Amino acid sequence: MDVIDLRSDTLTKPTPAVREAMAKAEVGDDVYGEDPTVNKLQDVVAELVDKEAALFLPSGSMGNLISLYLHAGRGGEVLAHRDSHILHYELASGSAIAGCQILGLPGHRGVLTPEVLEPALRGPIYYNARTKLVELENTGNLAGGTCYSMSELEALGAWARSKNLPVHLDGARLWNASTATGLSPAALSAVADTVTVCLSKGLGAPVGSVLAGTKVFIAEARRVRKMLGGGMRQAGILAAAGLFVLENHRERMADDHEHARLLAVALNSTSWARVATLPETNIVFADTTLAAHVIVTKLQSQGVLCSAMGENKVRFVTHLDVGRSAIDRACEILAKIS
Ligand SMILES: *Cc1c(COP(=O)(O)O)cnc(C)c1O
Repeated sequence: MDVIDLRSDTLTKPTPAVREAMAKAEVGDDVYGEDPTVNKLQDVVAELVDKEAALFLPSGSMGNLISLYLHAGRGGEVLAHRDSHILHYELASGSAIAGCQILGLPGHRGVLTPEVLEPALRGPIYYNARTKLVELENTGNLAGGTCYSMSELEALGAWARSKNLPVHLDGARLWNASTATGLSPAALSAVADTVTVCLSKGLGAPVGSVLAGTKVFIAEARRVRKMLGGGMRQAGILAAAGLFVLENHRERMADDHEHARLLAVALNSTSWARVATLPETNIVFADTTLAAHVIVTKLQSQGVLCSAMGENKVRFVTHLDVGRSAIDRACEILAKIS
């Protein structure tokens, strides 16, 4: 039985073409700044998100941590959505390593608005934490792969500028947001001083994220990356995979979004699941009448893997390694469960 693994879009395995690009990569020592493939990837991503410079990193979590370290630092406070990845899935590294605290704020669909941010801004009283950064996530992972609209981004950017606050964009799935909204990665990043993007999710690279910002910021980020143990040597072998997937796997992301919609529709015609709002990108959350772990086990026995995300909530994530026929089969299996 071929397992249809919809637990996460990080599960993709490099295709033969990706492996070939990796095998052929020209490399050098990146701690010396001499890996031509890493340098090329950094240039390509900087241009895609319209920032001056970029830095290749082992993970998106490191990109977010470096940003918290440099923008907020010890005693600084970060305004983020309460469902954000930095609050839930990054080991409190902001406090453990960067020394900042993160204030988790509400907002429909994972979206932060000036109305929510304004009252969270600390006044200049000496015993207050110092508000140092606005962090936003696009797409919003825990919100269900939701996208900011351009007007939401512009309102947030205008507010942050008026308060002299930098903005960091966790764009782990910025490519999905771009595909879904038709807005370019550069347009989606215009709100942000710094942006992290992942190559290892739906795009299908085995490893890697990129942090982009000003030249001055990225020079500092290089120092912090090394301090965190993220200085890599012949990393061009990994960067080559990133370059390949950026060029070849972005357009097909629309398929993942269509597959997520098909799953949502199939879930809504079962007796045991409800998808309240149809997915905007590649993440489907369903509320379940049966306990989530029961659903996970039942589906697993039929060859479909998903994640329990709470007592009565399951998550399906579509990606490069699950094609249309597998999705059709998954939909049939969903219909059979009761
Ligand atoms: C996956 C993810 C990250 C970074 O994850 P790594 O596994 O560290 O690469 C950051 N933010 C969001 C929203 C993510 O989904």
